[in-house]
Amino acid sequence: MTRKTYTGPIVDVSFDGEVCQHAARCVEGMPSVFNTSERPWINPEHAPDEAAADHLREIVGRCPSGALHIEEH
Ligand code: SF4
Repeated sequence: MTRKTYTGPIVDVSFDGEVCQHAARCVEGMPSVFNTSERPWINPEHAPDEAAADHLREIVGRCPSGALHIEEH
């Protein structure tokens, strides 16, 4: 189990790299938050308002592997 949590202002995102299938739906769906050329590559601070947080919830919900989870505050 290697789940790591990334903190944002409205929701946090956790990620388990052992589960990820590298389908890249997160990166394509919300590149401001999921950017593999940045460290950390998940940055929920780029979802600073409710509209962006809703979009983030939707993108995380589309992760096919269950690697991504939303952690509501
Ligand atoms: S959408 Fe899920 S499975 Fe695909 S790359 Fe992102 S975290 Fe990994």
